Amino acid sequence: MSEHYDLIAIGAGSGGLSVAERAARYGARCAVIEAGPLGGTCVNVGCVPKKVMWFAASLAHMLHDLTGYGFGRCQPGFDWAKLKAARDAYVHGINDWYHTYLADSNIDEIPGTAVFVDPHTLEVAGQRYTADHIVVAVGGAPTVPDIPGAEHGITSDGFFELEEQPRRVAVVGSGYIAVELAGVLNALGSDVTMLLRREHLLRSFDAMLRETLMEEMLSDGIDILARTQVKEVMREADGSLCILCENGQRLEGFDRLIWAIGRHPLTAGLNLAATGVEVDDQGYIPTDEFQNTCVDGLYAVGDVTGRAQLTPVAIAAARRLADRLFGGRKDRHLDYENIPTVVFSHPPIGTVGLTEDEARATHGDAVKVYQTRFTAMYHAISGREQKTAMKLVTVGAQEKVVGIHIIGIGADEMLQGFAVALRMGATKKDLDDTVALHPTSAEELVTLR
Ligand SMILES: Cc1cc2nc3c(=O)[nH]c(=O)nc-3n(C[C@H](O)[C@H](O)[C@H](O)COP(=O)(O)OP(=O)(O)OC[C@H]3O[C@@H](n4cnc5c(N)ncnc54)[C@H](O)[C@@H]3O)c2cc1C
Repeated sequence: MSEHYDLIAIGAGSGGLSVAERAARYGARCAVIEAGPLGGTCVNVGCVPKKVMWFAASLAHMLHDLTGYGFGRCQPGFDWAKLKAARDAYVHGINDWYHTYLADSNIDEIPGTAVFVDPHTLEVAGQRYTADHIVVAVGGAPTVPDIPGAEHGITSDGFFELEEQPRRVAVVGSGYIAVELAGVLNALGSDVTMLLRREHLLRSFDAMLRETLMEEMLSDGIDILARTQVKEVMREADGSLCILCENGQRLEGFDRLIWAIGRHPLTAGLNLAATGVEVDDQGYIPTDEFQNTCVDGLYAVGDVTGRAQLTPVAIAAARRLADRLFGGRKDRHLDYENIPTVVFSHPPIGTVGLTEDEARATHGDAVKVYQTRFTAMYHAISGREQKTAMKLVTVGAQEKVVGIHIIGIGADEMLQGFAVALRMGATKKDLDDTVALHPTSAEELVTLR
């Protein structure tokens, strides 16, 4: 006998929890199937523990700034294990909260790994479950390259398991996870080398952000080796790691190597062949704008779709799907344009809309760019030179704002409101007509000349 639901979500991460929660509110009978801890990547090995580490790193930076502000020199020491324990306790608290929340919301929690039997039937630990609507929200996992000795490295998942602070670390990758982990480790006192396959950090970001971040990370003491592809990793007799690169370089003496070269979707074990859903060449599940797969009653949300892999995107797509399926809102779907993104680097980045290059490729000479670069007031006396840079990308005679790019203290908190303005079609004049908040860094965005 199988148990029947209106909706089953595979994966209790950002997407799966959100679709079930919203559907249950409409009165649908829902279940979530989860192979690991509740909350998925974001809660357990992503945004949440990462942001805790970023706060710790930011405090470490501030300790350097104290003397500029008249405090005595402060060398408080740092206890990695204590921070990890506090962080783990916080994360476990969120896991526990979700158990209670699901129960209170009348959503059944089914622990285990789901495998499709047919488009409306799943099997978990020998038990079958059927549903009118099944939402695949299985997310992804960090990718490890297929090279000799790759197993000597860890991934972002392993980073969150580290009981001891690494002394000397190689971070391989150039995306936001690589940048964030390298920044945290460096601020907390590890000796960090980044290995980039190509020239730039954050390749898809506006050039101004990439270049400013590169300067700041180098000036913070991070060693960045561009055009350096790892060929082999070896464990030496003394336990340290030695990295052989395609260009012949041999890098020695690392106690950890972190692979941050990308993520892949967790679709391989789902037996999607039993459903008729085909994945793309990278394993992602294609959907239309309504999160429909090519099979009726089967949907995908979140990282597994390969689009804008961010928690709020998974949540927004999931809630809109439930609104459409159970809330009578037939046209409800997520608009994937102009999704704001923050990188928790040091300093942080906030970005939304088109990069200058993208805008010029589409709109040519109609593009006008305003930018500024300055030392934020906080750093005027901190004794630490750190730049803030901002760019507005506008288009046409009306100077409609199509891109906003910020790097500097507060960029992470600053961007949300500006993203609303961009989404609403703000022009440069709208920004100019907004009275500035003074003294802030944000005011520069409404006073650009
Ligand atoms: C280091 C790191 C930092 C990040 N920082 C940020 C950030 O600052 N801001 C941000 O917005 N995003 C961030 N992200 C991205 C964010 O975590 C993801 O975009 C988000 O978690 C995607 O949600 P999801 O529901 O698609 O998948 P997930 O949250 O990954 O959830 C999928 C769940 O499905 C489960 N599952 C998989 N297969 C099965 C199966 N067959 N049966 C049952 N269960 C299964 C998994 O165990 C998992 O719990 C970060 C990610 C990482 C790795």
